[in-house]
Amino acid sequence: MMSRFFSNKYKELKPYTPGEQPQDQKYVKLNTNESPFPPSPLAVEYAKREAEKLNLYSDPTCKPLCEELAKTYDLKPENVICTNGSDEVLDFVFKCYCDDDIPVAFPNISYGFYPVYAKANRVPFVEIPLKNDFTIDVNDYLGINKTIIIANPNAPTGIALELSDIENIVKSNPDNIIVIDEAYVAFGADSAVDLVKKYDNLIVIGTYSKAMSLAGARLGFAFADEKLISDLNTLRYSTNPYNVNRMTMFAGIGALQDAEYTKKNLETIIENREYTVNELEKLGFEILTSKANFIFAKSSKIDGKELYLELKKRGVLVRHFTKEQISNFVRITIGTKEQMDILLQKIKEVLS
Ligand code: PMP
Repeated sequence: MMSRFFSNKYKELKPYTPGEQPQDQKYVKLNTNESPFPPSPLAVEYAKREAEKLNLYSDPTCKPLCEELAKTYDLKPENVICTNGSDEVLDFVFKCYCDDDIPVAFPNISYGFYPVYAKANRVPFVEIPLKNDFTIDVNDYLGINKTIIIANPNAPTGIALELSDIENIVKSNPDNIIVIDEAYVAFGADSAVDLVKKYDNLIVIGTYSKAMSLAGARLGFAFADEKLISDLNTLRYSTNPYNVNRMTMFAGIGALQDAEYTKKNLETIIENREYTVNELEKLGFEILTSKANFIFAKSSKIDGKELYLELKKRGVLVRHFTKEQISNFVRITIGTKEQMDILLQKIKEVLS
């Protein structure tokens, strides 16, 4: 539906469709790559303390959190920006570094929000096909004279690039911005964050939504040369200077300080991932090599959409994408061992 007043600019815009978010806890929810574990107790404690001060605006510079992130990742606070989820900083990237003269390129199978941001911001974009095995061909990205966005590990495949490949892409496009979206990096891929000190055209994006169990708090960040951070801040201050609320800001500090808690959860998720892959392979599934907190799996016995629907009927939510090349697959978020056992049991039921 659309009113007769809606700007022509947006009449053709098809918004991003988020995964289903049922609010009644009825499902084993393995569809939007959240952590199955609650946030760190320290994050919750700090957020509660800040709740008492919700009458006051948050710090628009986000200084305490930028400092904590800088300390954790061995950068300067000037190399950090914090945003309302990493989705927000992605939007700033499209606004700052793409226009009619500088198109943006990303893989044809990747995070579904990239083409939506391109269209919403009215910038031309090129979708570069993955290889038949769903990997990225690095050669496609060398010296291409475009802004480049790559999720590493990629979504929904879970496949990661080598750091040397990323460096080659950055090096070969010195006059263009390269964005590495590291939403899932903590689950086993190599982060490009150290390259930020070496290259002034690299932006590394991170999120608290997955490894740090704070999807509902909405907190993302980016690391880059301080001039790039200044550009992104120009957009931030022109949009919503209080983009990170004070509860979220301090939850973010708490989560960073409680690194042990995050590490323990990461180890569990990785263990559960390997367990699930093994068990699904025994059932004849083909699974792409995942370095993320999800796996992308297909069975020759059942179509992806049907499997998704049959699992949903049985109380397990996974994600299915209609794009032709990947419509045989389902994406399964890795949860607790108990959740994965329910999933496996229901899959056996469906297949029999
Ligand atoms: N990048 C990728 C690759 C993602 O899968 C997601 C999660 N949907 C995001 C960014 C955005 O996450 P958030 O806004 O919760 O930080």
